[in-house]
Amino acid sequence: MDFDYDLFVIGGGSGGVRAARVAAADGVKVGLAEEDRMGGTCVIRGCVPKKLMVFASEFAGAFSDARAYGWDVGAARFEWPVFRERLNAELDRLEGVYRNLLKGSGVTTYDTRATVAGPHEVRLGNGTVVSARHILVATGGRPAVPDAQAAELGITSNDIFHLPDLPTSILIVGGGYIACEFACILHGMGVEVHQIYRGAQILRGFDGEARGHVAELIREHGVHLHVGTNLLAMEKRPDGVWVKTTDGREQVYGQVLFATGRTPNTEGLGLEEAGVEIGRRGEVVVNEFSQTRVPSIHAIGDVTNRINLTPVAIREGMAFVETVFRGNPTPVDHDLVANAVFTQPEFGSVGLSEEDARDQEPIEVYCTSFRAMKQAFAGRSERVMMKLVVSRATRRVLGCHIVAPQAGEMIQLAAIAIKMGATKEDFDRTCAVHPTMAEELVTMKTPVRHA
Ligand code: NDP
Repeated sequence: MDFDYDLFVIGGGSGGVRAARVAAADGVKVGLAEEDRMGGTCVIRGCVPKKLMVFASEFAGAFSDARAYGWDVGAARFEWPVFRERLNAELDRLEGVYRNLLKGSGVTTYDTRATVAGPHEVRLGNGTVVSARHILVATGGRPAVPDAQAAELGITSNDIFHLPDLPTSILIVGGGYIACEFACILHGMGVEVHQIYRGAQILRGFDGEARGHVAELIREHGVHLHVGTNLLAMEKRPDGVWVKTTDGREQVYGQVLFATGRTPNTEGLGLEEAGVEIGRRGEVVVNEFSQTRVPSIHAIGDVTNRINLTPVAIREGMAFVETVFRGNPTPVDHDLVANAVFTQPEFGSVGLSEEDARDQEPIEVYCTSFRAMKQAFAGRSERVMMKLVVSRATRRVLGCHIVAPQAGEMIQLAAIAIKMGATKEDFDRTCAVHPTMAEELVTMKTPVRHA
């Protein structure tokens, strides 16, 4: 049977674009539909604009540190509209890059919503149905807002980049990546930040000691972090949003930001009708080759809710092409994926938390906390934390957790060694680079505890 396309990709984010480009470069006839801006969450409303906001917000500390280093810095003020305009121009540029990459590799793009109309059929926004030998669903996710009364008064991370003005105060709801990152960003930009988290400690799932350290630093940074606290009621007021929280506080905030998780974009896509299994959280259920229950339909990235990170989606896209178009079945390796939470300072981690490791086997824990030279000289009290979780049986480093400026950069490199199976003794025989913060990773001699 002849198809209009060998591959039709629904979703022009990091995963979908990579799969489309790589397949097309192999001579596969590829179509791709995107209903919003090309580039998806990462480029348009996630990692990229977020990281640029991190850079912008870090200048607040840099100016005061500069004074300690002898610079005569005048009064500095952050101008959100100036930054936002430059940010938008950069996002336009990046979207253009993505479009050119697709065009250059011969992918036919459609700026429209597309849905699945059958195992080999895709319906475009104008009603046209195109046929495809393979369909790749890469529709990502979207912010999930709790079912709270008057929740529509809050905004999500999608909206933050478009605010005409920064509020004078904000309440951030949530204790995950987005909540913690924006708490630091907005505080750095001069906003009074309150963050509430329903559980006992932020960043659930990460190493306990590191979570505690990050929480302490977020507070030291000036964010009003309240754990064990949730929303009770919200009301619109002339000067913002009145909020009552479970700890009895009532306050009016300029904005309320919900950073309460994300939901896979599967609604109304025609997937279940086509026979694709959808999981409890709305995710597309796939096997290790990203294949759904319908053999011609695959799914990658956040819509599958495996590990919701851009580089993982890209790898899933590459593995899909390798499997389906190059005859080389390639499962995606989801083990030991390093990641960074871009708080200030950053939190990088790879492998098992102390808690998960000790449930698995006997371990040794190496941990150090110290004031880094650059910040200490500037009079800051914040401490860096470095931690290695080591298997007592194999000596392998099972987990590495770093809370420090540039921890994202450090963990990327530590992850190579850990992925290669480095032991604690491999770390020990690696000579330090002095003076750096990361040298502490190879100079921790005595375990702080056994578990
Ligand atoms: P997370 O899952 O990280 O955090 C969601 C937070 O919201 C949790 O603290 C959760 O609490 C809380 N929450 C969920 N539902 C409710 C509710 N009804 N009421 C109150 N609180 C609630 O999601 P994010 O939105 O922060 O980020 C989504 C994903 O995007 C991340 O998991 C990550 O994969 C990715 N991401 C990665 C980044 C990076 O690599 N630096 C940056 C940003 C996002 P609880 O813990 O109790 O469930």
